[in-house]
Amino acid sequence: MTGAQKQEIKYHLMDGLNRLEAQKAPESFAFEKCPDENDFASHVSQQRINLAMHKRRMKRLSELEAAIKRLHNSEYGKCEECGENIGIARLKANPSARLCVLCQSEAEDGVGWCA
Ligand SMILES: [Zn+2]
Repeated sequence: MTGAQKQEIKYHLMDGLNRLEAQKAPESFAFEKCPDENDFASHVSQQRINLAMHKRRMKRLSELEAAIKRLHNSEYGKCEECGENIGIARLKANPSARLCVLCQSEAEDGVGWCA
């Protein structure tokens, strides 16, 4: 991977981080604003959705942070399964990718390219 390619990937990663950080954290739950049971129940389910979205954001955030750390050493761009180069096109599309396309498809559902 060339220096310019690394720079481009880094830009993609930082952009992803900035967009995640710009998203609002879930509002804290205000019990006193729930005068009746129905209201309370809808608040609870809304809170559950917020929490799930928050968890997904945090996961994405840590993936991006890990990718930025990897970018500073030679591990970046190598598949963690087979050690092959992941490929610059794939890294541009998904800078936090840890597996090559083949290993990724196997990891996801066991279906390879030929299936
Ligand atoms: Zn692989």
